[in-house]
Amino acid sequence: VLAEIVTIGDELTRGETVDTNSAFIAGRLTELGACSVGWLTSCRDVREDIADALRRAAGRAQLVLVSGGLGPTEDDLTVDVASHLVGVEPVVDEAHKDKMERRFARANFKITPNNIRQVRVPRGARVFENRNGMAPGFELQLGGAHLFFMPGIPREMTRLCDEHIVPRIGELMAGAPRVRRRIWRCFGIGESHVDDRLQGLLAAADPGGDASLHFNVQFPEVLVKVIVRDADDARATARLDRIGAEVRARLREHVYGEGDDGLAEAVGRALTARGATLALAESCTGGLIGHLVTEVAGASDYFRLAIVAYANEEKIARLGVKPETLQAHGAVSRECVEEMARGVRALAGTDFGVGVSGIAGPSGGSAEKPVGTVHVAVASVSECRAKVFVYPGTRSQVKLLAAHWALKLVLEQCT
Ligand code: ATP
Ligand code: MG
Repeated sequence: VLAEIVTIGDELTRGETVDTNSAFIAGRLTELGACSVGWLTSCRDVREDIADALRRAAGRAQLVLVSGGLGPTEDDLTVDVASHLVGVEPVVDEAHKDKMERRFARANFKITPNNIRQVRVPRGARVFENRNGMAPGFELQLGGAHLFFMPGIPREMTRLCDEHIVPRIGELMAGAPRVRRRIWRCFGIGESHVDDRLQGLLAAADPGGDASLHFNVQFPEVLVKVIVRDADDARATARLDRIGAEVRARLREHVYGEGDDGLAEAVGRALTARGATLALAESCTGGLIGHLVTEVAGASDYFRLAIVAYANEEKIARLGVKPETLQAHGAVSRECVEEMARGVRALAGTDFGVGVSGIAGPSGGSAEKPVGTVHVAVASVSECRAKVFVYPGTRSQVKLLAAHWALKLVLEQCT
């Protein structure tokens, strides 16, 4: 079975938006395993172009996944074009209209006629609820092809796709074995080392199986993904458990979690489980650790204080770093970050204190402390652990890596 993805929008063809929707959808279809993506097409918000792209896709693919152009404005044409193609009228979907009315009433907004445009679908289409937005998703048949329409906004598209489109395609492909995937999240080890350590993994842990292994770098993390196909769900779980045990045995402390949650979520869970609290003293990360920590819902349960002490005088005045320490070792030193970590912990009265200081570059390095040198320390009531790394990357990479090391050290001390 062949699939085609059609993304619609002037912003795509002008180069203003990177077409991440195609990549996401293609990934999901590939994982499903029941079809292969033959074409990725993008087109402008032009009636004839959209009609042409859809007609052509339906002519050569059995599954067509479309994103974009479901918005409320005049340049959002997808519903009209799709309706015209199959020879029906657009009609208002009452469920999404009700939701819109409730939402707008609560926010005290007036519904304008173009808002109503957004809750229309072609008459007779199978409708999918958009739980992250206003525009419904829907499915049509054109010739022998099934066409699935989703909004362009990634947050809406991804949820709709996972909640409705992927299961629906699975249903259409009934008889094909179910696809299951699991992700292990690694930090502190490069992709090539992960690959090396996992040589022969599947032969050992899933002999004779059809499991496949994939790596995905989301700097500074490496994600290890395994996909299995199995008609029997319990057997699929058992296979994934066996593979997972082997992954963990080979990557040991570098695996910090599974699934979608990153390091900050893992830290949040660990702190919450212990009823422990956290304070941060940041220098070169400039508040990035605080940002990552507060991206997690519920951070107020454990996160108390962050101080960005960039200047040496501020490290002394706010965090109690000793002038002699700075004199003898400099700000980018184990001694300094340990004093920062202890200082902020004492100041906030928390269980854990973090100190980070480094040279993010591109200038400011020396032979002894090259650009990309970062010291990280985490202080608890009983000890202070430190770590130093040198990473020859860009300024933002060095900051991101430093922030993740800080979180990793907190996690290690907390579990
Ligand atoms: P809505 O659901 O709000 O009606 P829409 O279906 O009309 O959205 P568009 O107006 O085409 O979607 O796009 C909305 C925004 O979503 C764009 O400004 C763009 O930032 C983002 N977007 C659209 N298509 C893509 C894509 N293929 N990849 C990544 N982002 C996209
Ligand atoms: Mg658009």
